[in-house]
Amino acid sequence: MNNHKTEILIIGGGIAGCIAAISLADTYNVSIVDKLETPPEKVGESLAPAAQRILNKLQLFTNTTEQEKLCINNLGMQSYWGSDQVRIVDHLRNPDGCSKSLDRQQFEIFLRKKVEEKGVHCFWGTRLFNSFYENKAWKITCKTDLLKNRTTDIFNTNFVIDATGRNSHFARSLQINRTSFDSLISCWLTLPNKEKNTMSTIITDSDGWWYSAVTPKHKRVICFQTDADLIDKSYFKNYDSFSKIIITNQIINNYITKEDINKIQFHGVVSANSTKLNQVCGTQWLALGDAAISFDPLSSQGMFNAIASAMQVTELLQDYKFIRKYDHHKITDFSKAYTSQITSIWNSYLNHKNIFYGTEKRWKEHPFWKRRHQHSLKDSLI
Ligand SMILES: Cc1cc2nc3c(=O)[nH]c(=O)nc-3n(C[C@H](O)[C@H](O)[C@H](O)COP(=O)(O)OP(=O)(O)OC[C@H]3O[C@@H](n4cnc5c(N)ncnc54)[C@H](O)[C@@H]3O)c2cc1C
Repeated sequence: MNNHKTEILIIGGGIAGCIAAISLADTYNVSIVDKLETPPEKVGESLAPAAQRILNKLQLFTNTTEQEKLCINNLGMQSYWGSDQVRIVDHLRNPDGCSKSLDRQQFEIFLRKKVEEKGVHCFWGTRLFNSFYENKAWKITCKTDLLKNRTTDIFNTNFVIDATGRNSHFARSLQINRTSFDSLISCWLTLPNKEKNTMSTIITDSDGWWYSAVTPKHKRVICFQTDADLIDKSYFKNYDSFSKIIITNQIINNYITKEDINKIQFHGVVSANSTKLNQVCGTQWLALGDAAISFDPLSSQGMFNAIASAMQVTELLQDYKFIRKYDHHKITDFSKAYTSQITSIWNSYLNHKNIFYGTEKRWKEHPFWKRRHQHSLKDSLI
């Protein structure tokens, strides 16, 4: 059993956890744990232009050669949303430049390396086991998954950041629940890209919507979003079953050529619903990124929210200064300020989501769209 003393413990080394670690490490003694030894392949590649401004500020995107390995420019989006006519939204006039298409796994490997270079104490392959609050500090027990040679690490820390993604494991262990606003899921695959046009594509369908984007190394990702209760799950078992839905959409089907069928990697289903933790911070802890609020992929804002919120947390912790010296009033004021920031992001997100879903009126009577139109009406009356 290993004992560690640290000022801040971050649980979860995804984008939110890594950016928080990098920005907090200049001021505090920081440790980070992640249950996975290395980041896996993940869906979600489109990095909003504004996020790149923050990465530049942290000097993470200064090396052009390194950047070229991690992402490609995404010139824009072709959208079949609300009509059969294609609409092009280009990023050429955005003052922050193009959005980027990331190799998500390589980007997270890169971030972990930057965290290590910052002198953060890293524990990869170590998951949250339990937590205990006593004498104005947290005692967090983490364990490795290895059955043989299982290691136990105990962290005595003044502050915990829950960056464990949609499952918000730390907050849940404190019996704090999440509210789900829908039951959106996404089924995804990757394959070689053969198209010269590398714009992203979104297309609505009667029971959901499609999304496709080109990522580095000439790869293409294809995702279908629908509600968990509206689809026969057997369609999402493997590529053969998924292809029965793919062939119903000509544009998406055209991205798949016969000679590449054996190169398709089917990744299955992930949750993609809009959810919010019922309490985003408490006594010497807070939830960050997806652990606090998770967005519909339509917004393409999840990574930006994770990155921007991590920076806001750093600024707030520096303003309120209670990490080294416990101060009840400052902690209470900090909690109010952080809760208010997250609430305002959430309200603005819901507003945009409702407007966007509201513009597709072709399948008004289909449950997928009917639910979303009713939601937008309900939210606008609040
Ligand atoms: C289908 C889909 C498409 C998307 N597309 C986009 C997009 O184009 N653009 C965009 O900006 N966003 C997109 N997103 C959202 C984006 O992927 C997330 O917002 C982002 O991953 C959030 O980062 P995070 O660090 O908060 O959480 P995560 O990426 O979920 O990271 C959480 C980390 O915590 C670790 N962890 C979990 N439990 C434990 C535990 N008990 N102990 C220790 N470690 C733990 C995990 O291993 C993981 O590394 C998409 C999401 C979906 C579902």
